[in-house]
Amino acid sequence: KRKIAILTSGGDAPGMNAAVRGVVRAAIMRGCEAYAVHEGYQGLVDGGNMIRKMGWDDVQGYLSTGGTIIGTARCKAFRERPGRLLAARNLVKEGIDALVVCGGDGSLTGADIFRSEWSSLLEELVKTKELTADEAERFAHLNIVGLVGSIDNDMSSTDITIGAVTCLHRICESIDSISSTASSHSRAFVVEVMGRHCGWLALMAGIATGADFIFIPERPPSGENWRDNMCAEIKAHRDLGKRKTIVIVCEGAIDSNLNPITSKDMMDLLTDRLHLDTRMTILGHVQRGGKPCAYDRNLATMQGVEAVEAVLASRPGIPSPMIGMNENKITRTDLMKAVALTGEVAKAIGRKDFIGAMELRDPAFNQ
Ligand code: ATP
Repeated sequence: KRKIAILTSGGDAPGMNAAVRGVVRAAIMRGCEAYAVHEGYQGLVDGGNMIRKMGWDDVQGYLSTGGTIIGTARCKAFRERPGRLLAARNLVKEGIDALVVCGGDGSLTGADIFRSEWSSLLEELVKTKELTADEAERFAHLNIVGLVGSIDNDMSSTDITIGAVTCLHRICESIDSISSTASSHSRAFVVEVMGRHCGWLALMAGIATGADFIFIPERPPSGENWRDNMCAEIKAHRDLGKRKTIVIVCEGAIDSNLNPITSKDMMDLLTDRLHLDTRMTILGHVQRGGKPCAYDRNLATMQGVEAVEAVLASRPGIPSPMIGMNENKITRTDLMKAVALTGEVAKAIGRKDFIGAMELRDPAFNQ
């Protein structure tokens, strides 16, 4: 029987459990054995009971639970070859030659490095007599499949990542709550949301809640006078009778000189220039928690099933796939290319010549 393992890695995202459930049950339905690696790559490095066989009933209740039940970790050891050597030995000892990794771009980069080193890792393990030549030969080909679990929606080659929509809902609920108290007291609120270098959460939340201003890294405010323009616009809204002001700041927001735009600065600006009674709310980890919404449950389930199909279809020489969602279809794209493109975009956001040039849906980012 083929043995397929899944792990969750990096920051947790709602819907990761549904992905684990999807992989486990699809694997069993396709006649394979399913394994869960606990605590992300740390579980691979540690081996032993961190790698556990999963039955159909072991994933009961996973659909509606937030976070990741099998645990996640940031694992230093896996960043170095000796750590990956231990991980390879543990996988082979368990008889596992297929690994589904659900995580962000860092986790998928790690997965890709692991696969590219696989044969040299096995060679080294044979040399040091950790593995027999026969074991190394039977497990010569490691199948890696990537699932993108990230609230940030910052991965290239997919329109949406597992957890982003739930996170967006959570932000909107919070801003709705803030809006009612803001209106009552005629206050202004600066709300800081997650997303790192990706403004998707801030932008979508801003549209969904009717925010007055949104700051995202991809499109810094233009012109030297942007503060004056913003204040003039907010004052105009107030003059029309609006009793609340909502400004959303993505945690990675920058100005056109690449200086960070912080929520504290925006609060001080509204207080000093417009004399608004202004408060600041950093939403923090509440954004990541709680039950996944229906969209994330379904996305993760469909992608989990597709990950198993991709494992079964994989052959030596075929690049590792990343399961995405493009134009409402579940897709398989080249994991390595998606990781490289994501890295390029992240780097480019910090470059002056790039600022303002990036379209959020530039087709180049979805290839
Ligand atoms: P998030 O988007 O939530 O931050 P992520 O997957 O990008 O998730 P990281 O902390 O970057 O989170 O990566 C998670 C883990 O993946 C790391 O702790 C490390 O074990 C592994 N990893 C990341 N980058 C590499 C790399 N270049 N080589 C090997 N392993 C890596």
